[in-house]
Amino acid sequence: MSKKPTDPRNWRPATLAIHGLGRVPHAHYAVSTPIVHTSNYYFDTADEVEEFMRAKGQGKVIREHEYARYGNPTQQETERKLAAIEGAERAVLYSSGMSAVLLVIMTFMKPKGHIIFTSDCYRQTRDFAINFLGKFGIEHSIVDPAAEAIERAIRPETNIIFTESPTNPYLRVLDLPAIVKVAKERNILTVIDATLATPYNIRPIHFGVDIVIHSATKYLGGHNDLMAGVALGANNLMNDLYRMQRMIGATPGPLTCFLLERGLKTFGMRMEHHNRAGEQVARMLEDHPKIEKVWYPALESHPDHKIAVQQMKGFGSVISFLVKGGNTETRKFIDALDLFLITPSLGGSESLVTQMWAMSFFDYPQQYREDIGMVDNLVRLALGLEDIDDLIGDLKQALDKI
Ligand code: PLP
Repeated sequence: MSKKPTDPRNWRPATLAIHGLGRVPHAHYAVSTPIVHTSNYYFDTADEVEEFMRAKGQGKVIREHEYARYGNPTQQETERKLAAIEGAERAVLYSSGMSAVLLVIMTFMKPKGHIIFTSDCYRQTRDFAINFLGKFGIEHSIVDPAAEAIERAIRPETNIIFTESPTNPYLRVLDLPAIVKVAKERNILTVIDATLATPYNIRPIHFGVDIVIHSATKYLGGHNDLMAGVALGANNLMNDLYRMQRMIGATPGPLTCFLLERGLKTFGMRMEHHNRAGEQVARMLEDHPKIEKVWYPALESHPDHKIAVQQMKGFGSVISFLVKGGNTETRKFIDALDLFLITPSLGGSESLVTQMWAMSFFDYPQQYREDIGMVDNLVRLALGLEDIDDLIGDLKQALDKI
């Protein structure tokens, strides 16, 4: 670090997203972190190699880089900033949110172990649990996204509790201190995918959660233009994740890391806008005669409203709701929108709309879809950074057309 700041730990997320915990030297004194496009890093002499390897064996770092699967300078700088925002000792970046999810599970799963997941969760995470964990001899339970249901599902062999908060798409917010308490009593690792909250709105590590995961493709990147994932936590856990990362190579490339670090520079401002937009649009929808029901944690009607206001600073810009009517009315509404792009994902500058059953759950049998709440008239909005009045105007004119 070239200049030691007085007390960076008191900086707020918007500042940490730009400066991390202080300045690090950059080649040519560049303000932005240079993109280093190389697959390998050379040594000047054969002795240097031996010194480097010997130091590495003793846990010392005498130079940072060696081979691109093990990381690159832009990745390292971005990890440093993400760890600072999250209040974690260390971050490990991945090439996607799903590689973070799977590699966290695969690094910490145990033979004959048992993992608890929550039912309202990202579809691919659920599919991994259902279709792949058994191949490793690992059992799982998928339970309601609530602390009591998680506690009831614990078995002597449970070693991981994996949940999202808020969940996707019903935005259930979990009582993290309650989950952490039962997990710590039984020596169970807690993992929270907090993609929908971001460290701007919740910092699970402060509640004692062991590992936080984000799909950085979403709010952290923030512009619908990159794919990345991140896991954050204490050094000992992250060291294990990094060992796996080095082997598997789900490493984000330097350009991706540059875009992510650049996205972080506006993270605080973007999240303020997302939080404001989410709340205003959710309230408008809840009062609208063509809407049957809305899920957004700021609404008093949301099942986890009380927990959400205790734990979260804001609630982001994902809103799920039921359009009055069925498939036909819902599609009419979606097709009448001018500003919302019909596509999955969330957290970027463009507003997005998803009819959940068709976009994300099309290949599931209808009964199963309905059992997990993916009914025909369920719509998920992911508001972008457009003017809030324009978004509200667009939603109203589209609802008028039903
Ligand atoms: N976790 C959540 C909550 C998500 O919504 C997503 C993607 O939508 C993921 C994980 C996977 O992230 P990625 O698409 O970056 O692999």
